[in-house]
Amino acid sequence: MFLEKRDYDAIVVGSGPNGLAAAILLQQNGLSVLLLEGKDTIGGGMRSAELTLPGFVHDICSAVHPLAVASPYLKNLPLANYGLEYLYPEIAAAHPFDDGTTAYLQGTVAQTAAGLGRDAQAYQNLLQPLVKSWPLIAPDVLGPLRLPKHPLAMAQFGLRALPPATLMAKRFTTEKAKGLWAGMAAHAIQPLSNLATSAVALVLLANGHLGGWPVPKGGSQQIANAMADYFKALGGTLQTGFYVQSLQQLPSAHAVLFDVTPKQLLKIAGHQFSNLYRRQLQRYRYGMGVFKVDWALDGPIPFTAPECRQAGTVHLGGTLAEIADGERQIWHNQHPDRPFVLLAQQSIIDSTRAPQGQHTAWAYCHVPYGSTKDMTDIIEQQVERFAPGFRDRILARHTMNTEQMEAYNPNYIGGDINGGALTLSQLFTRPALRWSPYRTSAKGLYLCSSSTPPGGGVHGMCGYWAARRALRDIFGRKDFIGDINR
Ligand SMILES: Cc1cc2nc3c(=O)[nH]c(=O)nc-3n(C[C@H](O)[C@H](O)[C@H](O)COP(=O)(O)OP(=O)(O)OC[C@H]3O[C@@H](n4cnc5c(N)ncnc54)[C@H](O)[C@@H]3O)c2cc1C
Repeated sequence: MFLEKRDYDAIVVGSGPNGLAAAILLQQNGLSVLLLEGKDTIGGGMRSAELTLPGFVHDICSAVHPLAVASPYLKNLPLANYGLEYLYPEIAAAHPFDDGTTAYLQGTVAQTAAGLGRDAQAYQNLLQPLVKSWPLIAPDVLGPLRLPKHPLAMAQFGLRALPPATLMAKRFTTEKAKGLWAGMAAHAIQPLSNLATSAVALVLLANGHLGGWPVPKGGSQQIANAMADYFKALGGTLQTGFYVQSLQQLPSAHAVLFDVTPKQLLKIAGHQFSNLYRRQLQRYRYGMGVFKVDWALDGPIPFTAPECRQAGTVHLGGTLAEIADGERQIWHNQHPDRPFVLLAQQSIIDSTRAPQGQHTAWAYCHVPYGSTKDMTDIIEQQVERFAPGFRDRILARHTMNTEQMEAYNPNYIGGDINGGALTLSQLFTRPALRWSPYRTSAKGLYLCSSSTPPGGGVHGMCGYWAARRALRDIFGRKDFIGDINR
C-alpha cells in the first residue's frame, strides 16, 4: 500500500480504542496526525460484522461498554454528534444459579443490594464509598502509577482492590452475593486468588451503578466509526490497509505512538531500544486466551430466570467455588468442563442487530494461552444449563479459537484480549517499571495500547495517557485541550 509522502507531527499505528483516542487527543491540539491501520476496516477490538447470516450483526470482539461510558477521556468527546448512541438493558448483568435464582447488577447500589438478601448491607458497605468517590479517583484508577490527586479516596479504593477476589468474597455469607462477585472478578482473566483481582470486580460493579453497562446501537463498530469521524472532522488523516512492519516505512514525524503489544513493538522498532528496555519488553507476560462463539438465533435465549432474559450481559458459571476452580485450572493450562462463560444478548435491546423476531448472542470463555481446543460444545452446555432449549434456537454459529483470534488481530497474542496479563506486577506499570510506561527508551517512540496502564477494555485511557506524554515531551505542551484534570 502506498503512503502519501508528507511530514506529520505525529503518527499513530493501530486504530483500536487506544490508537483512536491518542490520535484524537493529538489532533485536538492542533497537530497534524496520521493514523495507520493494518486491516481494511478501523476499530481493533470494536469491530462488528455479519459473521453468521445476512442481517445478523455480531460484535467480533468487545460488546458491552461500562468502561467506555466511564472513561474520563471518552465521555467528554462529542461522539453522539457522530452517530454514537448507547442502549441500556433493564438489568446490566445477571448471574443465574442452578436452583433457578439469580443475582443481578441493576440501578443503584441499594437496588442491587436489595436482591442480595442477608448480604445487602455487606454489598452496600463495599460499593457505596467507591461509587461516591469514583469521579475523584477515576483518572488515577484508570491511569499509570503516580501520586494520586485524592490520596485518601484512592487509599480507600486500594484497601478493597488489592486483596484477591477470593479473600474479599469472605465479606459475603450467601452463595448469591459471592457468585455475583466472582463473575465480576473473573473479568480479570486469571485465578481469583491472585492479588488485585478485586480491583476489576469493583470497577465493573461501581460503574454498573454509575453509568450502566450499555451496548452501542448498531454494534461496537459504531464507537470506532464515531471516533474516526470525529478525528477526520478535526483534520486528521486516516489510512487503512497498511500494516507497519518497520520504522523505515513511515513518513517523517516527531512522534510515533504504537497501538500494539510489546512482542510486535520489538519486531517493528526493537533495534532502536536500549538493551535494558528490550529485555524488559521480552520479559512481558501475556495472559490466558479466549474462545469466542457468536450465534444467530430464531428467538431470544430461553433463560429459566426472568432476570436473565432482561439482562444485556449474563455470567454463566454458578458458584464462587466453581468459577474460581475453573479460572485456576485454565491458568495451569487445563480446560475445565464447566468454564465461566460471559454472554451478551445485544439484540434484546437493539433491534438493528437481527431480522425482526430473531436474535444474536455473543459469548466467550477463558482458555489456556494459545489453546486450539474447540470449546463450542462446552460453552453451549453452559448456556443450556440455565436456558434449556437454547440449542434448538440456533440458526448458525461462528467460532474463534486463540490462534484465529491472533490471526484476526495481531494484538491478541495467544488469544490474550487484554494485551498482557493484568497481574499486580503488570497492572499500573505495564509493560515495564519505568518513570512513564508510555515512553519507550527511544526518543519520540511511544506505546499507547492496552499493554500500558490501565490495561484491557474499551476506554481509550491508554491512548489518552500516551498522547498526553508525547504532547509534553515532544511538543512542550503543559496545558492542552482534552486534559481530564481540568
Ligand atoms: C472476544 C473479546 C471480547 C471483548 N469484550 C470486551 C467488552 O465487552 N468490553 C470491553 O470494554 N472490552 C472488551 N474486550 C477487550 C477490548 O476489545 C480490548 O481490550 C481493546 O480493544 C484494546 O484496545 P487497543 O486499542 O489497545 O487495541 P486493539 O483494539 O487490539 O487495536 C489494535 C489495532 O491495531 C492494529 N494493528 C496492530 N498491529 C498493527 C501494525 N503493525 N500496523 C498497523 N496496524 C496494526 C490492529 O489491526 C487493531 O486494529 C474484548 C476483546 C475480545 C477479543
